[in-house]
Amino acid sequence: MSFSFWESDYFSSNAGVAVIGTGIVGLSTAIHLKRLNPGLKVVAIDRQWPPHGASTKNAGFMCFGSPTEITDDIEQIGEEQAMLTFKARYEGRTTLFTLLQDADIDYQNCGGIELMEKHDNQNVDIGYLNALIKNVIGINEYFKTIENISFPNFSKEAYLAPEEGKVNPVKIVSVLKRLADLEGVKFVFKEIKQLDDANATVIFKDGSIIQADQLAITLNAFTPALLPGIDDVVPARNNVLVTSPVPEFRLEQVLHIDKGYLYMRKVGDRILFGGARNKFGPGEYTDDLQINEAVIDYLVEYLKQKMGIQSEFSVEYTWAGILGVGRSKKPIISRINQKSCVGVRLGGMGVAIGAKVGKDLAELILDIKN
Ligand SMILES: Cc1cc2nc3c(=O)[nH]c(=O)nc-3n(C[C@H](O)[C@H](O)[C@H](O)COP(=O)(O)OP(=O)(O)OC[C@H]3O[C@@H](n4cnc5c(N)ncnc54)[C@H](O)[C@@H]3O)c2cc1C
Repeated sequence: MSFSFWESDYFSSNAGVAVIGTGIVGLSTAIHLKRLNPGLKVVAIDRQWPPHGASTKNAGFMCFGSPTEITDDIEQIGEEQAMLTFKARYEGRTTLFTLLQDADIDYQNCGGIELMEKHDNQNVDIGYLNALIKNVIGINEYFKTIENISFPNFSKEAYLAPEEGKVNPVKIVSVLKRLADLEGVKFVFKEIKQLDDANATVIFKDGSIIQADQLAITLNAFTPALLPGIDDVVPARNNVLVTSPVPEFRLEQVLHIDKGYLYMRKVGDRILFGGARNKFGPGEYTDDLQINEAVIDYLVEYLKQKMGIQSEFSVEYTWAGILGVGRSKKPIISRINQKSCVGVRLGGMGVAIGAKVGKDLAELILDIKN
């Protein structure tokens, strides 16, 4: 199928930049490109609207890293890089809020808690982490040690990050789309079959083509499928459930368990609970959006046994979403050739950092140094 003259004229001919993917990163990239260069023709492409990437399927934590996650980051990429990544997530929230202004995204600054398995406490030095964090964002005692009295199957010592919060991710994406529309970004919704990144050509499954001057590639977990040359981006499926209302289960904050592999929050009276991919082996490193019922069963048992939920509840919603992960939790923002840049590998904290990755990617495309 080919574009008509009118269609080509609308979004294709002389497309300055084609932004590939319309998750948080793609939308933020498109908005920043137009704001930095209003005359630039920007086309944002996804297989459908609303998109089925991680940006509409996540848990809606506005989070920056729990004590065990940051400890893990330091082990993997060293103190300096781990702190730069933490700072980028923290500042990403400001970039996002600057874009959204007063838009309603159900944001609550509720704080985040990490529950610890009894043996995990030895790995975390909270004074050391607080000192590092103070150096990069200036907040004293970012993590507070608190007494866990609600969940007896975990250590009595837990950690509270008052800066964390929760949002409605679909509201974020729809407000960003509206902003992009207002800035004059054109949208094309159909599946891409192939990217010729060296020539900035987008080839769709239906045979049509868009030729751009530059590609800004924000495919995150789906990068390997269309850009196999990019090293160290791996899709990782996460399964999530939402229960029937359980008003007696009280949880104000967002909850991190097991280095962030498990995450829980309330949505109204319901419990949202997801993760556990680390318990299910290499089969979960996939971009297949099919739900893994074994993971859902595990999550249900965990709610009953480990979280001690006695009340009757049923599972009313289940879905799978795909994270883009790698050896490092630092996003990749780089130029891969004269015609293309990538902003990918957002990991499990793209809500906070995503808008900033988009801004940085737009500046990279336009060769603006900051
Ligand atoms: C279950 C789950 C829970 C999460 N919870 C949280 C959380 O609570 N807090 C947090 O900060 N982060 C969370 N994350 C991570 C966060 O959602 C991501 O880091 C972030 O959304 C990544 O945004 P993105 O724009 O880079 O990628 P995506 O939103 O994944 O966008 C990539 C886009 O590429 C498009 N695409 C792919 N292939 C094609 C193709 N062939 N043709 C056209 N388009 C294509 C997709 O449709 C998609 O829209 C979670 C992720 C998952 C999966």
